[in-house]
Amino acid sequence: MILSSARPDQSRVHDLHTHSTASDGAFAPAELVRLAAESGITDLALTDHDTVDGLEEAAAEAERQGVRLIPAVELSAGWERKSIHVVGLGIDPGNRELRSGLAAMAEIRRLRAGEIGLRLAKCGFPDCHEAVLAAAGQGMVTRAHFARHLFERGEVATVQDAFDRYLGRGKPAYVPTEWTALADTVGWIRGAGGVAVLAHPQRYKLTGSWMRRLLQQFTDCGGEGIEVVTGNGGPQDTETAAQQARRFGLLASVGSDYHTPEHYWIKLGRLPPLPDGLQPVWSRWE
Ligand code: AMP
Ligand code: MN
Ligand code: MN
Ligand code: MN
Repeated sequence: MILSSARPDQSRVHDLHTHSTASDGAFAPAELVRLAAESGITDLALTDHDTVDGLEEAAAEAERQGVRLIPAVELSAGWERKSIHVVGLGIDPGNRELRSGLAAMAEIRRLRAGEIGLRLAKCGFPDCHEAVLAAAGQGMVTRAHFARHLFERGEVATVQDAFDRYLGRGKPAYVPTEWTALADTVGWIRGAGGVAVLAHPQRYKLTGSWMRRLLQQFTDCGGEGIEVVTGNGGPQDTETAAQQARRFGLLASVGSDYHTPEHYWIKLGRLPPLPDGLQPVWSRWE
């Protein structure tokens, strides 16, 4: 079956995975939208971690810039004691069940941040929690905030180093977190009218058979898409994800996972095109 018989509109540039200060991005939602417009992006999804708080500001600026903003979120989900990220595209951010789910996530993250702070204090770094809360402001706190704080304090050589030594899985300040189960996460997205997309599949370091198990369960519970082109993945990752999309009949998404200019290797508006023979996820709203 040829899915891409209708020629894709080459004039549109999609980036369907980005972050703002509503979670761990460097730019405020409106600034991010301006940067995206300058970078030639025509269709942008703001996908902050477990929050939709940046969407209103982003939508207002998108209107001014003539950018199409897809209301979205990146949810942390639990599956087989791993943490998996699911991007929800085209959600109604006011949906009641989604909102109550997000409130529960905020509470999980609030308690976890306090616990990370305690563990870092035991590692010899007092007052991290307070500093991170001040830096995050109203935004959702993530491990990236702690990593940046340790770097700015000069406790680690790089942000990555903070993960490798303290914050990564199994390290002294790592707090095992019970995220909402994958099926419930996907349910919230679908209930809010969105498309659930498995984010950055290469990041989970799963073997082929584990990835197939994940994708089988993901599709069984209503997941409909997979990120095929990502900011962190290379051509081989794209090829692997494209095969998975074909095998499981998933819509294909494209997203940089842009956070900050400090990740100089990830640029807005510079992603390679989707491989042929895939149905782009934006076919659902165009
Ligand atoms: P959290 O969702 O609070 O566990 O934080 C995860 C965020 O931290 C991710 O979205 C990334 O932005 C960042 N992150 C996670 N792992 C790493 C890593 N190994 N190196 C750099 N940043 C990371
Ligand atoms: Mn992040
Ligand atoms: Mn993610
Ligand atoms: Mn992300």
